Amino acid sequence: MSSKYKSIETKLIKAGEIEPKILGAVSLPVFQSSTFVYGGEDNYHDVRYIRLNNTPNHHVLHEKLAAIENAEAAIVAASGMAAISTTLLTFLEKGDHLLVQDTLYGGTHDFITKDLPALGISYDFIDPANPQQWAKKLKPDTKVIYVESISNPLMQVGDLKAAAKFAKEHNLISMIDNTFPSPVNFRPIEHGYDLSLHSCTKYLNGHTDIVAGAAIGKAELVEKIRKKLNHFGGTLDPHACFLLHRGMKTLSVRIKYQNESALKIAKFFEQQSGVIKVNYPGLESSPSHKRAKELFSGYSGMISIEIEGGKEASEKFISLLAIPICAPSLGGVETLITLPSTTSHAGMDPEERRKIGISDGLIRISIGIEDTEDLIADFKQALSKL
Ligand SMILES: *Cc1c(COP(=O)(O)O)cnc(C)c1O
Repeated sequence: MSSKYKSIETKLIKAGEIEPKILGAVSLPVFQSSTFVYGGEDNYHDVRYIRLNNTPNHHVLHEKLAAIENAEAAIVAASGMAAISTTLLTFLEKGDHLLVQDTLYGGTHDFITKDLPALGISYDFIDPANPQQWAKKLKPDTKVIYVESISNPLMQVGDLKAAAKFAKEHNLISMIDNTFPSPVNFRPIEHGYDLSLHSCTKYLNGHTDIVAGAAIGKAELVEKIRKKLNHFGGTLDPHACFLLHRGMKTLSVRIKYQNESALKIAKFFEQQSGVIKVNYPGLESSPSHKRAKELFSGYSGMISIEIEGGKEASEKFISLLAIPICAPSLGGVETLITLPSTTSHAGMDPEERRKIGISDGLIRISIGIEDTEDLIADFKQALSKL
């Protein structure tokens, strides 16, 4: 879909909106109707029914999501994992193989390492920063390469340009989980990716009140995902569509503020003597900085740090904070803080976890939209009490 609006800010408000406005309503109403009057459709997938992802609330989101990533098409799903699992199962079948980056979102890691092998689909991990090593992992049945724009929780950015190029050279479908940067900071389709995936639960919705997912990319591929999703049934309910639509309108203002605030906070942490390590691709000290700077227009609100004293000190630090809330998930207006070793990566073998650089005391912070100076003062008072 080529949008008539140029900038992402305008697209977030205008793209896909139904004109003329329904009964004059400026905000699109919720079409909470499971079925619609039969209109002569002659194809199962075109019958109007909530599970078939085709209510007005779905259509508007599909057009808006495609427009903001400069893609042809998009489809929303019941959660990020519904979008990711359905997309992988659309393009992989028994006997197929996929190459996948070695540091993955926990749910995706479990799905690929546990569920796919049970279906006869094999995988090999690749180091996303080392493209020279990928070719030797290729197999005759390799169909997909899967990466994440910013990895969790170490905030590493792989060689994203190389992965899209590698896919083209070897006739693979390239998929990227673009949840962490959000479409404001990075638009993978512009860099040659076939499919961009999102947990819309995070930045796209931004208000910590729904779970939702999306797949964005070439119309022909999205159509295949839509049919699979219609069968699996992982549909986003119209009321959740409405909330996601509402949340997305402020995506750009939120992200720009969060980019700026997180960069200041990361720099603050870098100057504190009790802080051993700060992981943030916006810092010049980050090994990912050069790659991130070339591709991203901002570095998101996600930071991780290590402080002196290990896990015990980290837990005390978190308990001393007044503003951040200790909870998993990310990308909302509230600053959230967690220890990945006890939440997102708790399922991993502790030895393996440490080997990939996730210490037991590593702290992950999702910067919200509170005042930057208030947050810095809060972090400072907590550090001073350790
Ligand atoms: C949260 C998350 C997911 C899963 O999304 P859900 O909406 O929780 O199903 C996938 N990838 C990344 C990077 C995430 O942060």
